[in-house]
Amino acid sequence: MKKLFFLTILLSALTLQAQDTYIQCGKLIDTKNGKVLTNKTIVVSGKIIKSIQDGFTNPTNADDKTIDLKNKTVMPGWIDMHVHFEGESSPTSYLERFSLNDADVAYNAEVFAKTTLMAGFTTTRDLGGSGVNVSLRNAINSGKVIGPRIFTAEKSIATTGGHADPTNGYRKELIGNPGPKEGVVNGIEDAKEAVRWRYKNGADWIKITATGGVLSVAKSAGNPQFTQDEIEAIVSAAKDYGMKVAAHAHGDEGMQRAVKGGVKTIEHGTEMSDATMDLMIKYNAYLVPTITAGKAVEENAKKTNYYPAIVVPKALAIGPKIQGTFANAYKRGVPIAFGTDAGVFQHGLNAREFVYMTDAGMPVMKALQAATITNAMLLDMDKQLGSIEVGYLADIIATNDDPTQDVSTVTNVIFVMKDGVVYKP
Ligand SMILES: [Zn+2]
Repeated sequence: MKKLFFLTILLSALTLQAQDTYIQCGKLIDTKNGKVLTNKTIVVSGKIIKSIQDGFTNPTNADDKTIDLKNKTVMPGWIDMHVHFEGESSPTSYLERFSLNDADVAYNAEVFAKTTLMAGFTTTRDLGGSGVNVSLRNAINSGKVIGPRIFTAEKSIATTGGHADPTNGYRKELIGNPGPKEGVVNGIEDAKEAVRWRYKNGADWIKITATGGVLSVAKSAGNPQFTQDEIEAIVSAAKDYGMKVAAHAHGDEGMQRAVKGGVKTIEHGTEMSDATMDLMIKYNAYLVPTITAGKAVEENAKKTNYYPAIVVPKALAIGPKIQGTFANAYKRGVPIAFGTDAGVFQHGLNAREFVYMTDAGMPVMKALQAATITNAMLLDMDKQLGSIEVGYLADIIATNDDPTQDVSTVTNVIFVMKDGVVYKP
């Protein structure tokens, strides 16, 4: 009895001590209903949104905190479905493959992750690195370093000589014979084995390079690089382990195979035909546009010696097309997610994608919904992320102005909370 009494005292003391945060929002974006609400107060307790009240309310407990965002616009933290935290484009990127150790990559990645969080992206999907991205995810989850929540594909799966074969461009003695363990496959058995390696190494998603790519040291940016059978083997093995598959694709044939094979997201989608757009709709596959990356590769290709010579014509051909394809796909009704390919350009500039999506004809609210509710759904986190609702994780950001009135404000995020912790200011 005495024990129970003390337990009751202890519990009530703990409850009293729990500090709540009252966020007073001049404007609040309701991503689920596509509306901008005015004068609301979000009450955050621990990691969770405890209540949303009308008007500006104040705490009743002395320990509670108030955050005044009365003349700001508040919304759920954004989700970027395509980043690469292990690197950032520069004229020395290709040499760094030979000069950086994993520890160097990890320290860089930590900085890139923090920069991304400060730009308003509280969740990301890392679509390919060496495996440092798995360690980074774990370090962030355990609170050792600061960054967004990460869902990672670990190492992209490629075919020999294909985009993301890690030894492309090496001199012959260094090439070796990378196999499924290194994410290089040829045939169905390899394909399954590569997926199982990713699972073993801690991946959350599977990424394949369904076609050639711009930045690999190889000739084609768009040729199909997997057979239909290989893609189907990968998708079905991934399904066994509870993982979905993302496919990098510029060329139409490789893209079609990926969609028919059951891939959930198509990255870039540059040369997507009308027929493939219709297939995307039929299979409920999502386009992750990465317009920002397209603009960046075009711009960098015009600088002398920025990329290896073999990359330049690919960058000049592919880069300028991405925004136009996105515009057509959106108009045709292709499901759209939000993703940038940050790392191909400077980390932290991810929000530029909203501006480019809007320029291409997508209303700002729809672009914001892609980066919140749509992406949360694709990550199977739609009961926790992407919306400001009671019981959801407190991932909350704010911009100076209302982005639905002036989209350029997205590059000026002034407040970032993730899991109930304020990181900015
Ligand atoms: Zn990428």
